[in-house]
Amino acid sequence: MRYPILKIYTEKIVENGQILIKECAKNGISLWAVTKGMSAHPEIALAFKKAGFQILADSRISNIVKMKEAGIQGEYALIRIPMPSEIEDTVMLCDYSLVSELDSVLEMSRICDKLKKNHKIVIMIDMGDLREGFWPTELESSYEKLKNISPYLHIAGVGANFACASGALPRRDNLASLLGYYKELENKLNCHFELVSGGGTCTLVQMIRGNIPEGINSLRLGESILLGTDSSENFPFTMLSQDTMEIVAELCEVRVKPTLPIGEIGMDFSGNVPIFLDRGNRLRGVLAIGKQDIRIEGLVPLDEGVEIITASSDHLLVDLEDCPKKYKAGDTLRFRPDYPAMLSASTSSYVQKIFC
Ligand SMILES: *Cc1c(COP(=O)(O)O)cnc(C)c1O
Repeated sequence: MRYPILKIYTEKIVENGQILIKECAKNGISLWAVTKGMSAHPEIALAFKKAGFQILADSRISNIVKMKEAGIQGEYALIRIPMPSEIEDTVMLCDYSLVSELDSVLEMSRICDKLKKNHKIVIMIDMGDLREGFWPTELESSYEKLKNISPYLHIAGVGANFACASGALPRRDNLASLLGYYKELENKLNCHFELVSGGGTCTLVQMIRGNIPEGINSLRLGESILLGTDSSENFPFTMLSQDTMEIVAELCEVRVKPTLPIGEIGMDFSGNVPIFLDRGNRLRGVLAIGKQDIRIEGLVPLDEGVEIITASSDHLLVDLEDCPKKYKAGDTLRFRPDYPAMLSASTSSYVQKIFC
């Protein structure tokens, strides 16, 4: 066994996916399953397919290529608006993409014509999170150009993103505005579009609260499937499993030490001057995992009595004084990762991934 390990309980993720597909269908909502939180690991993509998701979505073309090369069938969506330099790859390798630059759409249109390849776009509208999206007032001037795009380039609908860059939450009013822009686009282009993509896990929370206007018919879910959590409002999804993953790290020192550092205190590894409370001598453990493996702030200890003290690039220090179990070097401790911790563990080559 090579530690640290990210253990993934695939069946629990499959179950989360199945529950979400069913619950959302009751509300007339279809789903894209977002793989980027786990770097599109093929085992995750397979779990999503097993749950019944038809469309896999990722922010990176390289991740989409990885899933395709692993032989995972289905439709793929690129959910980071494409860089102008990757527009040809987007058309060639993805079935859907989210777009917010008119020039990118026109370039896609030219490429679709050239390759005679079909591609579907979701026009993103910025509803206040200030990340990607057309600004609502500039839509008007885009309608004429959107009318004349290639017959191979299909407008699938409109979408918005919430609670990512600025924390702006989806609410009944801004989702209703999104629907308004959708209807306006349909009228101006005299066409019917299939999708109103209302956001990610944060919008699922609104759906469960019964607070989503009728007409929002698609969501793009990552966190709720993978971890059964919502980091926008910490909404408790009682129907989902939260114990889908854990981090396992090995203790390489266990010793009683003072809780107050000795000598003059300068800056720690991160450039902060740390402040410690004097709790006398206590049992402390050194785990072989650090800030270059994972985002430590996102770890919650799963073993009784364990408390995180601090971490440097390669070491995580824990207080073990109150643990009922007597730990020694060579024992392992378990932690639950939040979304950013999962993300950092999944991209780190130092963290071994074990699917069970
Ligand atoms: C990451 C992402 C999602 C998924 O969000 P979750 O909160 O993980 O459900 C949805 N849409 C876009 C555009 C994203 O970048």
